[in-house]
This record gives sequence, structure tokens and C-alpha cells, in this order.
Amino acid sequence: MDKPAPTTEDQVETELSVRLLGSGGPWVDAHRFGPSTLIRFGDERLLFDTGRGVGIRMVQAGEEPGDLDTVFITHHHLDHISDLADVMITSWLRGRRREMTIYGPPGTKAIVDALLNLVYAKDIEWRSVGEPTWGGWQPVRAVDVEPGVVVANDRWTVSCDYVVHGHKLGFRKEFVKNWKCLGYRFEDAGGRAIVVSGDTIDCGGIRRLAKDADVLVQCCFANRGECEGNPHLDRVAEFTLADTRQAATIAQECNVRHLVVTHIRPKSRERMAEMRREIRQVFRRKLTVGRDMALVRL
Ligand SMILES: [Zn+2]
Repeated sequence: MDKPAPTTEDQVETELSVRLLGSGGPWVDAHRFGPSTLIRFGDERLLFDTGRGVGIRMVQAGEEPGDLDTVFITHHHLDHISDLADVMITSWLRGRRREMTIYGPPGTKAIVDALLNLVYAKDIEWRSVGEPTWGGWQPVRAVDVEPGVVVANDRWTVSCDYVVHGHKLGFRKEFVKNWKCLGYRFEDAGGRAIVVSGDTIDCGGIRRLAKDADVLVQCCFANRGECEGNPHLDRVAEFTLADTRQAATIAQECNVRHLVVTHIRPKSRERMAEMRREIRQVFRRKLTVGRDMALVRL
């Protein structure tokens, strides 16, 4: 039978997807690049973190770095910002003809300013003056943000909250005061929600963000089975990065529809199978064990 003709009540939803550009961490791994996640909403591209190799993965995914103008940074660990300058400058060299805005926790503006006005000041001036066909430098604006709405327009909203990532590891007070880590929630006008956890253990911030999300991109460093009998990994799971049990519990108790785990430490094939098993013991809805380039459509 023919499909019924669309009625005026039918609404065509804007294409929405999320892609893991990098699913690893600070270690150097040819298969898992540094953390970066790309949300596609129609023609718009929103990039979350700028880990090692993000530009290469974008091109491999058929995405154009020149289309980027909105970037969100979760925190200032090397693996999340190592290619920040690459994103700012390469987007320009690949055709960005408008201002780029980079949102991140307090201190982001200082990092961006140092990269542009100090580290790469000569590169930018050299290309602007020496290669005028690029059309001159296109500015980058950095905004330090705090929990709440970060950007809102008539199509989507991105909000953020603080998450807990190593805050109780015994650092001096002044350091902890300045160690701000964010998770983000993207939500379109129709209520479809994608959450990017950043680096976190199970905490109030990630639970507030993840509530009823369609997709939760959740860091999940070690299996519970890897932590048992390994004091180092057990300490990481307690203070720094969610393990399988925490990732699954957050997703289950926050009523997440689809859990995508990422930031996965190198593991054997057996450990990868164990990861899936451990998550499945707690979380019963859709699960994707992340790898670079994994694409989830909403
Ligand atoms: Zn981190």
C-alpha cells in the first residue's frame, strides 16, 4: 500500500546525529584518537573537545573543518585540548569566513588568547599577510562559561554543568578552585537531547545533564573487572573517570535511551567483551561501545 500523503501535522525533523571523532585518551593510540565528539544538526556542526587528531578524523568522516564555528571544551586536560590551535587555525585555512566561538570552563579564554596572541601569533600574521588569498584572519572569540545555558537559539540549546574529575585527589585548595570541568547537554526545539559527559565520575552534575537524554556519550575508562585487584585503576574509578558500573548506573537511573561509552583505555578483545557484559548487567536499553568514527543517528 502507498504511504499516506503527509498531512499538515507531520513535521519533518532536522537531521540530528552524533559522531565520536576520538574515543581514546591521553595515551597515543593509532586506533583511538583524543576525545572529540561532533554533533550534526542539519547544516550546523557543534564540536565538543579538540583531542589529538580531530582534524584528520573530521576529514575522514567527510566533514569540512572550514564549516566549524562553534566549539565546546569540557576541561583543560591535554587530551581534550591538544588540537585546539589546529581547530582554530585549520578551520580558517579550510574556508572559515566567520568568527569562531569557543566555550569552555573558566580559563578557556586565557588559553585561547595565549595560543592566538603568543604561540601562533607569527603563523597567523604570516598567513594573513603572506597569503592574502586566504582572505585574512577570521577571529576566534572565547567565552568562559559556568553552569546553566551556554547558547540558545530558536533551533537548539546547549547547557552545561560542573562534573567531578579528580577534585578529591589531594591537590592544594587553590588548584581545586581553578579546576573546573564541564559536561554539556544539547537539546533541539523538539526535545531531542544529546549529552556529552566530558571526564567525570558518577556525580550530581552528570546526573542532572543526563536525565531522560536520548543519547549519553559517557566516559568509561576501565571495566570493574580491571579495577578489582588493581589499586591504580581502582583509584581512577573512585576519583577520576567512571568505570563500567558507574557509566551503566548513570544511564540506567537517568532514564537514558542510548548509552555510548567512550574514553576507553586500551583493552584486549576479552576485556572489550567484559566491558559490554558488565554494562549490560545494569543498563538494559540501547548500548554502543564507542570507537573512533562511530555514528549515532537520532
Ligand atoms: Zn580529563
